[in-house]
Amino acid sequence: MATEKQLRFVAEFLKDRNASAAYQRAGYAARGNSAETAASRLLRDPEIVALIEQGEGELRERVKISQENITELLWDIAITDANDLIQHRHLCCRYCYGIGFRYQRTAGERERDFAQWEADQRDADDDDPVRPFDEMGGTGYHKLKDPNPDCPECFGEGVTDVYIPDTRKLTGAARTAYAGVQVTKDGIKVLQHSKPDALVKVGEHIGMFRKVLEHKGVIGVAEITESLTPDVKERVAKEMLREAGYVVDE
Ligand SMILES: [Zn+2]
Repeated sequence: MATEKQLRFVAEFLKDRNASAAYQRAGYAARGNSAETAASRLLRDPEIVALIEQGEGELRERVKISQENITELLWDIAITDANDLIQHRHLCCRYCYGIGFRYQRTAGERERDFAQWEADQRDADDDDPVRPFDEMGGTGYHKLKDPNPDCPECFGEGVTDVYIPDTRKLTGAARTAYAGVQVTKDGIKVLQHSKPDALVKVGEHIGMFRKVLEHKGVIGVAEITESLTPDVKERVAKEMLREAGYVVDE
């Protein structure tokens, strides 16, 4: 039967999973190394372990989270298309769709330019006549159109543009993967949770690395995950994903 102090230790340990701090907060006198040793002895006691597992179960119940939920969230992060968070795109240039590939205005720009031309004409005198209004490539410029492959000005490459969607409206995997923005003097940086880290965690959750090692007969099951460096785990996870038909970034 666990003592009052041991129960207190379990409750404290569940708060931050810091064994020696929990040990001290539970009211034990030991400090430093001896607290650490005593705490790890407690963590090997089957009764204490059972109480911790019970506590973890209650915590999961309270926040309505399960192993599956966590794996699904990590999976979302692993497969997010970065284009959902930030895009580097090629859009049409001013000449792509202009009549005769001349500079194309929007309707509003043409209106303002024409008003300016009319004003210039009113102020003009015979010595300095105003030339006829130049319609150039006409109106209808639409910034979001794709480049015209036949354009003699941009040669079909258009102009490059960086677009960040309204992050309040992100949904699904993109919302999970979104980790905020950093505003720096050089501009805005969109942050995304690490895809490789998420992949490796998913792999650990579903026992993927253990299976791979067993399959290859490399080492015994007991050695498992710890013996794999993060690099190797990432590579294995990516290989497995590619085999499953996913497009995985390098
Ligand atoms: Zn063009």
